[in-house]
Amino acid sequence: MQDIKSLTLEELTEEIKAMGEPAFRAKQLYEWIHKKMAAGYESMGNIPKALKEKCQEKFSYTSLKVVEVQESKLDGTKKFLFGLDDGNVIESVWMKYKYGYSVCISSQVGCRMGCKFCASTIDGLARNLTPGEMLDQIYSMARINGERVSHVVVMGSGEPLDNYDNILKFITLLTDKNGLNLGQRNLTISTCGIVPNMKRLADEHLQINLAISLHASNNEKRKNLMPIANQYEIHEVIDACKYYFDTTGRQLTFEYSLVGGVNDTVEDANELSELLKGINCIVNLIPVNPIKERDFVSTEREKVIIFKNKLEKRGINVTIRRELGRDIDGACGQLRRRHLTEEEK
Ligand code: SAH
Repeated sequence: MQDIKSLTLEELTEEIKAMGEPAFRAKQLYEWIHKKMAAGYESMGNIPKALKEKCQEKFSYTSLKVVEVQESKLDGTKKFLFGLDDGNVIESVWMKYKYGYSVCISSQVGCRMGCKFCASTIDGLARNLTPGEMLDQIYSMARINGERVSHVVVMGSGEPLDNYDNILKFITLLTDKNGLNLGQRNLTISTCGIVPNMKRLADEHLQINLAISLHASNNEKRKNLMPIANQYEIHEVIDACKYYFDTTGRQLTFEYSLVGGVNDTVEDANELSELLKGINCIVNLIPVNPIKERDFVSTEREKVIIFKNKLEKRGINVTIRRELGRDIDGACGQLRRRHLTEEEK
């Protein structure tokens, strides 16, 4: 069945008219779904009962079930494990910043990119998430926490550009003035570097932020951490980044997870600064969050600072990722992973 939460206002209007109902009902329904973030039809006061019943027959209504919540005692970060209608589970994160609340959502159930240090990819890809399932991670967390969401990052499990059409529709719905109306500049999509789709995204001429998971400064090292580097060479990724900036004017973020003894030396920093020379970007250093299935270790704090200083000396903007929720399976896919392993037992 078609998910009503995944329809644009235009699509919903067509559907409602085809049901013999006036077009304004579509607008009302759309506002309940996307602006007031209704959990179901019950609360929709101004919608006639007969129309609700017709919609229930015709559409599914994505509404995620909370399976588990972990709250960090250190910083209030909350990690949600949500259940989907088909029994799959996904995870999303709620974070407090100075400027407001930011959420990190998943774009797929599992992932097929195979990055070596990432827990999300261990069991491969189960399926893509629909636009409605991506939206409802945000809507559910906003409702449960009783707060407005000011920023959204698509940095949870999955590769957003491996689910291109759904991600694009998700962006349209989330930033629609008739819906939640999130500013495009407050939305960040993170990719491991699927070059053709980075260019496609640039050509949409949106004002969203693009983050690229680089994690190495040359292709040899990158291939050891990220299988996608066998498909798209590091310089092709950099060229696609330049194209994204030239087309949209948006500054790029490069994510660089520091893995002890693998990509964290002074030579790595020098090579990285050479690679990124002249690009309007910011490098976000993330001390790798060790997962129990792999034996990668984090880079020590002093070495992180040395790495940062080296880049800054070469004129590159650097931030070190605030490590929120360290005490609660904070890294990508860890909570879902633990849940699945416990279920197997
Ligand atoms: N597939 C997308 C988005 C999901 S991952 C991408 O690759 O960008 C979000 C970020 O977290 C990526 O930069 C990813 O490489 C990183 N990441 C995943 N697991 C990690 C871990 N255990 N420690 C540090 N960073 C990790």
